[in-house]
Amino acid sequence: MVKSRISARRRSLLLGASALLAPALLVACGAHGTPTAAGDAAQHSASPSASTTPSASGTSSVAARPTPGQGATESSPFTTPSQDPTTPTRTPSPSAPRTTPSATADPATPAPGASQPSGGQQGHAPAGNVLRHTASGGKTVALTFDDGPGPATGQVLDLLAKYDAKATFCEIGDNAKAHPAAVQRILAEGHRLCDHTVDHPQPMHTQSHQQQVAEIGDAKAMIDKAAGGDARMSWWRAPGGDFTAENEKIGADLGMKSLGWTVDPRDWSRPGVQSIVSNVQQNLRPGGVVLMHDGGGDRSQTVAALKQLLPWLVAQGYTFDFPQS
Ligand SMILES: [Zn+2]
Repeated sequence: MVKSRISARRRSLLLGASALLAPALLVACGAHGTPTAAGDAAQHSASPSASTTPSASGTSSVAARPTPGQGATESSPFTTPSQDPTTPTRTPSPSAPRTTPSATADPATPAPGASQPSGGQQGHAPAGNVLRHTASGGKTVALTFDDGPGPATGQVLDLLAKYDAKATFCEIGDNAKAHPAAVQRILAEGHRLCDHTVDHPQPMHTQSHQQQVAEIGDAKAMIDKAAGGDARMSWWRAPGGDFTAENEKIGADLGMKSLGWTVDPRDWSRPGVQSIVSNVQQNLRPGGVVLMHDGGGDRSQTVAALKQLLPWLVAQGYTFDFPQS
């Protein structure tokens, strides 16, 4: 049932979205440079609200963009794992409305329209309970990987195991369905899962209520099924961090809290390994949540950056934690 429902929904979305969003996608991809590059990630850009995580955004590069938590940029790959981001079914992102509209600055941010704060303009109330902190506090960090499972998931897991690090994987329902073994390995190795919608719609807040319910609820069911029936997800993350009071309630009704982030190195945009590494090193504060990606396209830069960041985190005295729940 889920399957047919999704297919039907997707079809209609594709039909409508392709016409409406095509321009936006082009713009978004252009911003990144190569489509492919972008592809992968489609970027999510949400708008984060800087509010919360000041530090995260501290740096210039980051600063310009929204901030983590809410929206920052996330990338997204959408659709199928194999698919290139470029093809996302929908457009990139929205902005997260809430507090800081400026979030838009993010290149990743999609389309023009996207930048509108979801909240206000669309009449959507901003989310008020986005989590952006580790569960334990202190000198801990919560690493989060979005848009998988994908081809890089195994490499990420190998690295995490090498440093005995635990992380949270925000998965796309379609990808979980396509790669159940990866989902099961994630859980078997002590990591946790997070619902990242069925196919990464952006902007999330412009979806109808029913569509948002399906995106979040169907993904939960798909990930749970891929996991063998016990995914135990405590969180969901809106594509691009595009949380609103409306979709936050949908997630809450399904037993999941909204998971934001405090550090967004924009790895999905392939800014270069050192850019990813230095962004995290400069913006991470104890108790922070780092956004990276194991899906959505070529994640070789992310993997290379992780090879430097994991030993750096250990040397800095950080221990690996999960987000608060
Ligand atoms: Zn994403």
